[in-house]
Amino acid sequence: MSSAGTMQAVIKTKPQYGAEWGEAPIPAIGPHDILVKIIACSICGTDVHIYEWNDWAANRIKPPQIMGHELAGEVVEVGKEVTSIKVGDYVSAETHIPCGRCFQCKTGKPEICRNLKILGVDTNGSFADYMRLPEVDAWKNSRSIPPEVATIQEPLGNAIDTVLSEDIAGKTCAVIGCGPVGLLAVAVANACGATTLIATDVNEYRLGLAKQMGATHAFNPKNTDVVKEVLELTHGDGVDVMCEMSGSTKALHQGFAMVTPGGRASLLGLYSEPQTLDLNNEVIMRGIRVLGITGRTMFGTWYKAARFLESGKIDPTPIITHKFPLKDYVRAMDLMISGNSGKVILVPDGAK
Ligand SMILES: [Zn+2]
Ligand SMILES: [Zn+2]
Repeated sequence: MSSAGTMQAVIKTKPQYGAEWGEAPIPAIGPHDILVKIIACSICGTDVHIYEWNDWAANRIKPPQIMGHELAGEVVEVGKEVTSIKVGDYVSAETHIPCGRCFQCKTGKPEICRNLKILGVDTNGSFADYMRLPEVDAWKNSRSIPPEVATIQEPLGNAIDTVLSEDIAGKTCAVIGCGPVGLLAVAVANACGATTLIATDVNEYRLGLAKQMGATHAFNPKNTDVVKEVLELTHGDGVDVMCEMSGSTKALHQGFAMVTPGGRASLLGLYSEPQTLDLNNEVIMRGIRVLGITGRTMFGTWYKAARFLESGKIDPTPIITHKFPLKDYVRAMDLMISGNSGKVILVPDGAK
């Protein structure tokens, strides 16, 4: 099965900084795939890494490749074996593409599949008019969720898994790093009954957004001793839950210093190089439970994300700070890189 014609896309053409605006064939789909017409997509930190071409991207990405993995769109074609999705459905995409055959897949953890591919990292992505998606990764949206919100369910899923990897109700919580996923983590912790909810970031703009999303306190480590502030706010105890969303070495150690002995540290932020912890003193002797969060159980997290949004328990719209036509992706990327944005939405020309 194939769709004739070409489309416009943001393409990583060369192993260097940036990306090009170009034409690509409308993807052909296989029997287990669907073809999605993109209505809205959004920029993730991963896309910024690919755009900037950091060490991780240089080792992982094989240009030429269409960028992007977050999206909302309409199904315009389905493969002949597809049974759960039909033409006209309004969908978003889970981005882990599991093999379906390994131990992890067969024991209910496809999101940590040993042969995992990631949409827009190992395959062509969503910064285009159309995208091919395996049926297994399609998530049907309620029409009540607008496209610019539907597209951010993917990072919302990361925030949900980070915050809800253990109990949060009635607990004190620190969210370290207030990029879009950190801000969504603040929203999740607030919706789920965290009490003292502290956000830290080096960017004042993002600290302002954290307050809007329900942080009770927001601190900038550039001008405050954040560990001291957190200990004072928690009567010297430290927080029950620390969510590390920044990927900063300094913030990681500050985070461990903030957690109360016996508390939980959920780590989602990715580091540009291997990190060293004083395991004896930062973790073992203090009885800290360290959880690595890879993000988005398939599909438990998606049900939670959709329910939070449909019920209005989480309103992510303050985090959606900018919207650009897809072809203005350079401006959009520059803005993301500046740090003075929340979530940035891109809209293809042909989107309804
Ligand atoms: Zn993402
Ligand atoms: Zn697998």
